[in-house]
Amino acid sequence: MCSHSNDPHILCPQCDLLVTLPTLQYGQKANCPRCKSTLTTRWQEPRKRPVGYAISSLFMLLLANLFPFVNMNVKGLTSQITLIKIPQVLVSDDYSSIASLFMIVVQLIPAFCMVSIIILCGGVTLPRKWKIRIAWVLFHLKAWCMVEIFLAGVLVSFVKLIAYGEVGIGTSFIPYVLFCLLQVRAFQCTDRFWLWNQAVPAPVIAQPLRVGQSGLSQGLRSCACCMAILPVSQQTCPRCFSKGYARKKHSLQWTMALLITSMMLYIPANLMPIMITQFLGTKITSTIMAGVVLLWSEGSYPIAMVIFIASIMVPSLKMLAIAWLCWDANGRKKVDRERLHVVYEVVEFVGRWSMIDVFVIAVLSALVRMGQLMSIYPDIGALLFALVVILTMFAASTFDPRLIWDRSGIFETKEQLDGGK
Ligand SMILES: [Zn+2]
Ligand SMILES: [Zn+2]
Repeated sequence: MCSHSNDPHILCPQCDLLVTLPTLQYGQKANCPRCKSTLTTRWQEPRKRPVGYAISSLFMLLLANLFPFVNMNVKGLTSQITLIKIPQVLVSDDYSSIASLFMIVVQLIPAFCMVSIIILCGGVTLPRKWKIRIAWVLFHLKAWCMVEIFLAGVLVSFVKLIAYGEVGIGTSFIPYVLFCLLQVRAFQCTDRFWLWNQAVPAPVIAQPLRVGQSGLSQGLRSCACCMAILPVSQQTCPRCFSKGYARKKHSLQWTMALLITSMMLYIPANLMPIMITQFLGTKITSTIMAGVVLLWSEGSYPIAMVIFIASIMVPSLKMLAIAWLCWDANGRKKVDRERLHVVYEVVEFVGRWSMIDVFVIAVLSALVRMGQLMSIYPDIGALLFALVVILTMFAASTFDPRLIWDRSGIFETKEQLDGGK
């Protein structure tokens, strides 16, 4: 219980390098010496901490759903919404797809993840099989928690509305911000490597391990779910029972297929209107680019930049980057692996932030309902754009980053063999 892990070896899930973990002090993390990604972190009170954060975040989420979230006042007419009303308005506009997406990524998945952390770290008595399932789902859903992105979307919609009237925050707003911060902390404190080693000891490997070499060259693979080191020939992990292969199966084919689909959707997503604004009887439809131009002409330069970067630059660059990664993984050219890996990490991290514009539309169309005076409705472009973001996220997750490293040589420098602190 007291040691961080029984097995000091780890196969980097990002670059497939076999690393010996050093003895970590509290608060220290071990990074992969080759790709620099974090392998594991040693936390003080690794059980109480995440459980504490998760329980308080759930309490905040409950509070956030009870009271009005934001309000707006235009020429004496006041409109206020609760968090739960946002999807309801979208459903009444026949945009139940965006409403469900909103409910799932902003409330349901984060709440589920927090409950899972409480169950797994809090030592709740459940059959082991259940706990394994929960842990599997938890680490797969992590990227789909979009609480902080939604919050950024709310702030952007405030700036968009300032030109028309007074906007204010309701009683629920502060609890929601706290929920956002606490759930980020809860995730940070939950270390996957530690959690699995505590739940079930890692399976023993019969063959000698050669540290500083790739797993593939020694016939080993890292379990995609629990990070256990397994022989390539063993397809089902004895610890978490998930099936896996040395590399993600048909990784490039899947990534390319999802990428091409998202590229095809990206064109209509930019040409079709994402939102309809009714202001004093006139109806204005606006595309993503038109929204940016409008904000810029109104003088909201920072927000115009945020929307331009999140909705136009990031998706297009992300598609180019994924295409580049696929092309390189197929090729035989010698390139800078480290730089390519940074590209991959940026794509993985930044991609979800493109969802910001979809949330802005959700908030605007729920809040701005004042009949003829001013009303905002979502339009088909928003749905297409949300699909593009989802597809590119799947494309990035089906890409196997170890392919970037597979053709690079063996690691030679002695000091790099032990994981850096
Ligand atoms: Zn690595
Ligand atoms: Zn496993």
